[in-house]
Amino acid sequence: MRYAETGFNLEIDLSRGSIERVATDPRETELYLGGLGTNAKIMWDRVPPETKPFDPENLLIFGSGLLCGTPATGCNRTIVTTISPQTLLMAFSMMGGFWAPELKYAGYDKVIFRGKSPELVYLWINNDKVELRDASHLKGKGAGETAELIKKELKEPKAQVAAIGLAGENRVYFASIEQGRSSASRGGIGAVMGDKNLKAIAVRGTRDINIARPDEFMDLCKEVLEYIKFRNDNPIPGVMPILAGLGSPQEMKVHDEKWHTENFMWGNSRTRIKDFWNEKIAAEWMETLDKMRRRLISCYNCPMTCGATIQPPGLPTYMMKCFTKLTYTMAAMSDLEFGLGIAQSATEYGVDGFSAPQVMAFALELYDAGILTDKDFPGMPADNNGRFYWLLDRIVRREGIGDVLANGTYWAAQEIGNGAEKFAHNNIKKHEQLPLKLSMLNPIYFLMYCTGEKINITQIEGQFPQAPFVTREEREAFVKDWFQVPDEKFKQIFLDWEPRGEKSMPFYPNVQMCCDIVDWQERMHYIDDALGMCSGLSSFPLKPPYHIHNYPKFISSGAGIDMDEEKLTMAARRYRALVRANNIRRGMRRKDEKPPEDHWKKRFPELEKDLMDTYYKFKGWNDQGIPTRESLHEMDLDFVYEDFVKRGILTDSGDSSSKETPAEK
Ligand code: SF4
Repeated sequence: MRYAETGFNLEIDLSRGSIERVATDPRETELYLGGLGTNAKIMWDRVPPETKPFDPENLLIFGSGLLCGTPATGCNRTIVTTISPQTLLMAFSMMGGFWAPELKYAGYDKVIFRGKSPELVYLWINNDKVELRDASHLKGKGAGETAELIKKELKEPKAQVAAIGLAGENRVYFASIEQGRSSASRGGIGAVMGDKNLKAIAVRGTRDINIARPDEFMDLCKEVLEYIKFRNDNPIPGVMPILAGLGSPQEMKVHDEKWHTENFMWGNSRTRIKDFWNEKIAAEWMETLDKMRRRLISCYNCPMTCGATIQPPGLPTYMMKCFTKLTYTMAAMSDLEFGLGIAQSATEYGVDGFSAPQVMAFALELYDAGILTDKDFPGMPADNNGRFYWLLDRIVRREGIGDVLANGTYWAAQEIGNGAEKFAHNNIKKHEQLPLKLSMLNPIYFLMYCTGEKINITQIEGQFPQAPFVTREEREAFVKDWFQVPDEKFKQIFLDWEPRGEKSMPFYPNVQMCCDIVDWQERMHYIDDALGMCSGLSSFPLKPPYHIHNYPKFISSGAGIDMDEEKLTMAARRYRALVRANNIRRGMRRKDEKPPEDHWKKRFPELEKDLMDTYYKFKGWNDQGIPTRESLHEMDLDFVYEDFVKRGILTDSGDSSSKETPAEK
């Protein structure tokens, strides 16, 4: 018997219209868990580096996490994996909401798409009955509208529908997949779905899933719920609200936006407005939020209410969560009313709320600089807000300059030329980042920005405080009940960390300590992404309810896989290495691993080199970031080494990289 997982995937060949239910190998689950882990293995096995994002051979995998559908609070993530048109690397974007548990209840762990449908279709999974259906009547419809129409057409109001909007249909490189109360947005995965002529996937499941040792599992779930209550009643003092509690409910609950508006950048991630927040703006924004916010909502099986339904006057309701509340407002240098209004259109079109606003601000900067001119913007309104609506519309339709901008700032700048490249200044691995520009190098963030393959810093950071506390007393109070640490040494590092002087950044925490901290943070995110856990209850906040000490118990009692901290750490290392191996095979090397040039004003080249050299060694990667023969062997990934040798990425004698690889050519 299989526990927590169903043991079956759906394989859909869109070119042929075939649907197969395929049993999976339980040994793969032991090695790679589920979700991201087994997605990465499937990508390795079946998508060679010669496959381009819009080739029919590119897979689009919707993987539920291993514990999705169990009673574990907040375990509801779908991990969508494909080759990204924007980065040309393996994208793995997470979607909250309700979709993954519903898929499990229908009897499947993953849906794997290959090929391209000749006509626009949607997939309807109704327990055992699975069919591809005509979606020609949904062409051009918004993502939310599509979900509603499909539910009506199927007469199944409880179906969960993941859909793309016009942006995905038109292969906009930052197109998202929307699912009612969440979205998978990063990496342009919606563009791949559109390229496959797949408008939506509706799923309804009414079965149970098995739990290996239900009593033990339920006790663990109860402990987590009790801890969530405790933490909600007792936020951690001295840190920003999003880290002091759990999830990110404060984004949609609170009115006070002083912190974001004065610390994050406006426009094309360039302008800091230090004294922006005042009483007048606070009153206006409070009125806007109160007027448009309908109710606070949660994902499946979670009490946190991180999102809110928003209804701008005269427009349909949509779901807003997290920092997207402000991304459009700040990119356009406008106000909250504008931001919440345009986000309605953007959500229906299905675009990433981090990239889309920056792309539009980038276009207007190029216009101001004379690199783009009036002839590139025929009919664009004169007012600022109007320009953003106009640009969004051109982009999702790929009309005129919108066709160029639809490829994101990196590729658009390459195409426009004439100096446009330096305006695409906020990218890592060709992908737009959070609009942050800071002064002094933070070595921990430097490593995360450089080496992260999840591309989005909020999906890499967490667990360790972002900055030292001012007094030793505060630090002592913080470490007292810090039971989540994987090793007591992290407490000492934090205790000794001073805001100024010898034990301050950038030279403290020292290089080895930085490596340990980054590795811990990354490990927790990767575990979440395999189990399907929301990072808001695990890897992202300080002192979360899920951590390295109770996760093995959840896996053992839930999935029936004998697990301890060491084995879990090894599993996470293994599929993390597979993600890297997929990308190494696609040509990613050390030269690609860098933060945006202007992210920090004060840089320390020697320290940065030391950080990278030491971290690469620590991770078992050679000086080009390629996992070495020895480290691959340790992780039972000898087949990766063999492939690297075959492709000339590593030599027969071991870990030295060849000068050039087929993928780079
Ligand atoms: S913490 Fe928030 S984002 Fe995470 S599952 Fe709960 S409601 Fe969703």
